[in-house]
Amino acid sequence: MLQVSTVAELRSVLRGAPHPVGLVPTMGAVHEGHLSLVRQAHADNATVVATIFVNPTQFGQSSDLANYPRPIEQDLALFEREGVSVVFTPPVDEMYSAGFTTTVHLDGPALGYEGDARPGHFDGVATVVAKLLLQSLPDVAYFGRKDAQQVAVIRRLVSDLDIPVAISMLPTIREHDGLAFSSRNVLLSDEQRRAAPALFRALSAMRDRYRSGMQDATKLADGCRTQLAREPLFERVDYVALVDEATFAPWSGTGPCLLVASVHMGDVRLIDNVVLD
Ligand code: AMP
Repeated sequence: MLQVSTVAELRSVLRGAPHPVGLVPTMGAVHEGHLSLVRQAHADNATVVATIFVNPTQFGQSSDLANYPRPIEQDLALFEREGVSVVFTPPVDEMYSAGFTTTVHLDGPALGYEGDARPGHFDGVATVVAKLLLQSLPDVAYFGRKDAQQVAVIRRLVSDLDIPVAISMLPTIREHDGLAFSSRNVLLSDEQRRAAPALFRALSAMRDRYRSGMQDATKLADGCRTQLAREPLFERVDYVALVDEATFAPWSGTGPCLLVASVHMGDVRLIDNVVLD
């Protein structure tokens, strides 16, 4: 595995690399969710590029950025073991050089939910993902359904800007008790960690109700809120909603539907979703 930290090196390494090229963008603190993307990229492509960049422009609170876990040596070892060909670890000033002023701004799927909870977040995501795609020019880029609104934003971005890449969305990988893997899970106390799977349990219970024929969006969202309210360590619910997976508009009653939710536990915000089918 080659590690490069400048755009020039990345381009030079990829110039002769065999295609197809698969890209897996991450912020590091690698877990099984990230590794599932790498494994699929490895299965589909001749060259796998993984990136580790904790993108400051997608963080709101500076404390969240400062507290973000960065076990870089462990991350590199995990990527190497999974057959990553090139890992790109740019410093902040390589991605945002002096005088940087261009931002990719989206409305549409970036509005509401995570867009409300984290103002400016999706502009930061869209800008950095556009840069990573243009720097590496992959055939396919891999993202997790855990961050379904992010995937909707990225699909819109590549379509609107005619970036020639296929976007592959892979399933959410969960711990044994249902909690979705997330780099921020290490920030939970033991007590919070034990309580956290209640989020997925509430979403799953509504999926069961949906499958048994209860398909009223308001009732399902209310039922989910009621169940979340039973967990005392969930201090606040940011949102619970049924949305169209592609547009993140409120679900109209037809087409693929996602039940999305976010809760606060102390300084950590958990997000998760299930497909209602
Ligand atoms: P992050 O490092 O949190 O920016 O995540 C990098 C990529 O991994 C994104 O495409 C995420 O959606 C994906 N990802 C994060 N957690 C999971 C998970 N539990 N299952 C599947 N993919 C995930």
